[in-house]
Amino acid sequence: MDREERLRVAVQKSGRLTDHSLDLMSRCGLKYSRGKDQLLCYGENMPLDVLLVRDDDIPDLVREDVCDLGIVGGNVVHEKRLGFMARGVEPLFEVLQPLDFGRCRLSIAVPDQFRYEGPASIDGLRIATTYPHTVADWLERTGIKAEVVTLSGAVEIAPRLGRADVICDLVSTGSTLQANHLREVEVVLQSQAMLIRTPVPLPQAKEDWLRRILLRIDGVQLVTESKYIMLHAPRAALPEIRRLLPGSEYPTIVPLEGTTEKVAVHAVCRENVFWETLESLKAAGASALLVLPVEKMLP
Ligand code: ATP
Ligand code: ZN
Repeated sequence: MDREERLRVAVQKSGRLTDHSLDLMSRCGLKYSRGKDQLLCYGENMPLDVLLVRDDDIPDLVREDVCDLGIVGGNVVHEKRLGFMARGVEPLFEVLQPLDFGRCRLSIAVPDQFRYEGPASIDGLRIATTYPHTVADWLERTGIKAEVVTLSGAVEIAPRLGRADVICDLVSTGSTLQANHLREVEVVLQSQAMLIRTPVPLPQAKEDWLRRILLRIDGVQLVTESKYIMLHAPRAALPEIRRLLPGSEYPTIVPLEGTTEKVAVHAVCRENVFWETLESLKAAGASALLVLPVEKMLP
């Protein structure tokens, strides 16, 4: 099929972002076939194909116009951008929006017994990382001079091997650091998965599809938090109950057969509904509370 007419999205082939990225595409309505070892997933019901690649290659593929869109960590976007700038190359990709998954932070970590008293403690030392531009930029902004040791992986064992004194690496739970007797001391960058695009204008039909997909992504992000809540309430308690309903605008009030005192209240809550909220609603007089997941939403 003509590349002129089909959007191509670069997604990590196998790693932490893969399942979430493919799931997001499916929730936007894409049906695709994915064979074993297949690099290109052909969209069967939309003019959109998914190219499976290493995450580090995604900004380049978008920059080089091989792909129109990409899903990649903000950490990679930041590093690539600084890298392109250092080489005097225009970073030809644009960040469209954060995607609410793949959250992590790029942090400085020191060995457990290291006496850390602020960034000055690493002055003159060696920092191992796979993000040399980001670390160099942070050092410059912090006014610290340290040697950046660029590694391609296994950064967390560098101090034990004597290759560096401290490290700068991605952290989410901190369990990897702990297992390697390291302690997180500074956050250099907060990150989550991002949708990026080529800044080159696309043919109109592709731009139209891109706009539709962006709206669907907004819809998907809304529903992950949204709940549909139903309850019975005494009329007198309605003001208090409306106040307690989290993130809802206008609830639907429905009369109940056989009583004039009570009504049914239905509302879409654009936030998660926690047990505490249900308990408060009950204390305010609500009964027969029901919370349902919302599958699709188009604002
Ligand atoms: P590839 O083979 O595609 O190069 P990789 O080893 O670079 O894979 P992963 O470890 O799968 O990549 O991480 C991909 C992205 O997931 C990271 O760039 C980051 O944005 C995100 N991420 C979220 N949490 C973590 C974490 N705890 N450690 C590393 N990456 C994380
Ligand atoms: Zn990678």
